Amino acid sequence: MSTVVCYVETENGAVLDASLRALTFARGLAAEATEVSALIAGPPGADVTAQLQSFGVTSICVLSAGGLTGYAPLALAKALAAMASRSEAAAVVAAATDHGNEVLAHLGALTGLELAANCTKAHLVEGERRFRLVRQRWGGSLIEEAVLSAATGLFSVAADSVQPVPSPAAGSLAVSEIAPQLDALDLALQALESPEESPGISLASAKVVVSGGRGVGGPEGFAVIEELAALLGGAVGVSRVVTSLGWRPHREQVGQTGTRVAPDLYLACGISGAVQHLAGCQSSKHMVAVNTDPSAPIMSRADYAVIGSVAEVLPALVDAIRARRSSC
Ligand SMILES: Cc1cc2nc3c(=O)[nH]c(=O)nc-3n(C[C@H](O)[C@H](O)[C@H](O)COP(=O)(O)OP(=O)(O)OC[C@H]3O[C@@H](n4cnc5c(N)ncnc54)[C@H](O)[C@@H]3O)c2cc1C
Repeated sequence: MSTVVCYVETENGAVLDASLRALTFARGLAAEATEVSALIAGPPGADVTAQLQSFGVTSICVLSAGGLTGYAPLALAKALAAMASRSEAAAVVAAATDHGNEVLAHLGALTGLELAANCTKAHLVEGERRFRLVRQRWGGSLIEEAVLSAATGLFSVAADSVQPVPSPAAGSLAVSEIAPQLDALDLALQALESPEESPGISLASAKVVVSGGRGVGGPEGFAVIEELAALLGGAVGVSRVVTSLGWRPHREQVGQTGTRVAPDLYLACGISGAVQHLAGCQSSKHMVAVNTDPSAPIMSRADYAVIGSVAEVLPALVDAIRARRSSC
């Protein structure tokens, strides 16, 4: 039996979809039975515990550190190092989110272990401390096959490429605290407050994402994007220009340096389709683009392209959806 340790992120009292995907990846790392231990930053509520159990986690360690009020990457990395050493873990896994990659990078620096980031597949070669892996490079435009030789492999998981699958053999679950030895410097970097948690559907796991770019024209132009997203039961996404201009918060950014999404429908409105944006939405099942420029790169990537202004097309779409619903 091999052990895999997984850093699990939570949001709004639930496990982040990207972490559920990382747990699925963790279970599949070795042919032999794998025991999965999860590290979380704060006490798990009943929903988090139930989710972790259904994804095959057999033990949860809750980080306990005096003075810690939020995300603290070094403290989390030290806790992962202690868990990995105690269980002689074959691997440590996290979602390839900003936090997951940062915590694993610290863990690599602390332990000297190598980190394979943005993995889509990995498998322990039987009887050896060697992993065969596939991972995304250059924002997903290159797929690399590699071998990682390590006593303990560190992997961050490209969330858009692994489906979250509950464990068919979910069993009992133990919860304990872990208090790694920390000094003041380990807590020097920590999140003291989080942006207001949005009550809606999380961007990373939404089945529909309605995204707006510079072509939306300004912050007020997002009212119709929000309305459309709500009508379709989806989430709002944006391009980096939109966050750089301060029109919308960074947590809504889709792309290489934002969230990677894999919805059934991605509606790109007034977005040119730069490679860094496409890196975050290329796993969408269907893409529809609305743009005034027929030669914008997004148009050749979209399944359906509407050539027109968002200011005209989106209100017409909202009206059409409302009319269709009221006639049903
Ligand atoms: C290291 C690095 C990382 C990056 N990471 C990201 C990332 O994670 N995510 C990301 O999005 N970008 C990222 N970028 C930025 C990226 O290169 C682009 O600059 C950005 O995506 C462009 O945003 P945009 O499409 O909204 O704006 P623009 O490129 O300015 O495109 C605006 C589009 O709107 C159209 N338009 C204008 N008016 C209308 C209208 N009325 N109706 C309909 N369409 C209209 C235009 O024809 C145009 O196609 C990154 C860049 C770098 C260098």
